[in-house]
Amino acid sequence: MTTLEDCRALDAQDPLRPLRDQFVLPEGVIYLDGNSLGVLPKTAAARVAQAITEEWGQGLIRSWNSAGWFELPRRLGDKIAQLVGANAGEVVATDSTSINLYKVLSAALRIAAQDAPGRSKVVSERSNFPTDLYIAESLCREKGYTLHLVDSHRIGDALTDDVAVLMLTHVNYRTGAMHDMAGLTRAAHEAGIVTVWDLAHSAGAVPVDLNASGADFAIGCGYKYLNGGPGAPAFVWVNPKHADRFWQPLSGWWGHAAPFDFTPDYQPAAGITRYLCGTQPVLGMVALECGLDTVLAAQPLGGMAALRAKSVALTELFIRLVEERCAGQGLGLATPREPALRGSQVCLTREAGAYAIVQALIARGVIGDFRAGDGGAHEDILRFGFTPLYIGFEDVWNAVEQLRQVLETAQWQRPEFNQKNAVT
Ligand SMILES: *Cc1c(COP(=O)(O)O)cnc(C)c1O
Repeated sequence: MTTLEDCRALDAQDPLRPLRDQFVLPEGVIYLDGNSLGVLPKTAAARVAQAITEEWGQGLIRSWNSAGWFELPRRLGDKIAQLVGANAGEVVATDSTSINLYKVLSAALRIAAQDAPGRSKVVSERSNFPTDLYIAESLCREKGYTLHLVDSHRIGDALTDDVAVLMLTHVNYRTGAMHDMAGLTRAAHEAGIVTVWDLAHSAGAVPVDLNASGADFAIGCGYKYLNGGPGAPAFVWVNPKHADRFWQPLSGWWGHAAPFDFTPDYQPAAGITRYLCGTQPVLGMVALECGLDTVLAAQPLGGMAALRAKSVALTELFIRLVEERCAGQGLGLATPREPALRGSQVCLTREAGAYAIVQALIARGVIGDFRAGDGGAHEDILRFGFTPLYIGFEDVWNAVEQLRQVLETAQWQRPEFNQKNAVT
């Protein structure tokens, strides 16, 4: 049996432990939801205040140049590139994940139409994050494609010669299951299919090597493991071999080769800059940079490989403790047991009460979240994200102890934990 002392010893030996001091962690909270909204970096409040009072207040319009506002999407993109196996100049921070998906899926369909004409399908996973499916559904209608949804174990079989684009999320938001990006990209390319990868639950959480994987397009989220703050700008990467081939459809002036020439016609900028659209939210950008810096602070300590090793240790410990200490309470495991097949989260299932159990845990300061099942193959899920930058082994122990108490006392059955909120 694993003891609290064992967990404390693991924290004492953890070389990444000092990284936790970069964050504002509320007293009495164990935050296992960094996969939905990362925590606040200590630097962010002062940095945003400076951007408001000095750069906006005093610098005014001059700050587009003097404070580097205009360069923010590329400068932050270069920082994100270091975390996802891309090179400088290949990534921009911009817009939302949904909007970036619209741009890259459009471009991917155009490339497919040129390189492998006559194909009619976009393939994705049935349990992909809904916004990805909604954007794809709309684009498929507009361009005359069929969106073909399959279960994750059928993706290989679905890569037939009528498929134009394979669009997947690397780490599944519901189950935490992680795809083999390089392997699926290779299989897709062998069938002449263009690939689009969503890294929303990967960037800052698991090592990703976009260039080595040979992927065609990738997008990701700024407010999850990158700690960029609520509604932070997202990012987009395009394989350099495609970057100059097409305009993306939202051809706004920030993607123009010379936006301040104010010409009436559109001339796309070279490379990834053409994936910008319009004026960027500067205050959100500067907060995102603070978040990126918290992840880059791990570089001297082993970077994403070290973060991944700790993340695996945390998720292994959580699964083991739940199985040891909450045995007989009806919990199941929705996340793959094999560490190589999962991201940085663990999802539990329970036939009844999943929502209320999460609410009872939140009342005790253990913040995870709930994702509803569909009454069919997908069960209700209790979701716990483990951000290795700020979660420790003792936190895992304490979270499981609270879960044990909630279940053993049946406290979750109280009416106040069974009222549904708008945001789960
Ligand atoms: C979080 C997430 C998004 C979020 O999209 P927004 O445009 O920021 O709302 C998109 N896709 C996936 C897979 C996600 O996990």
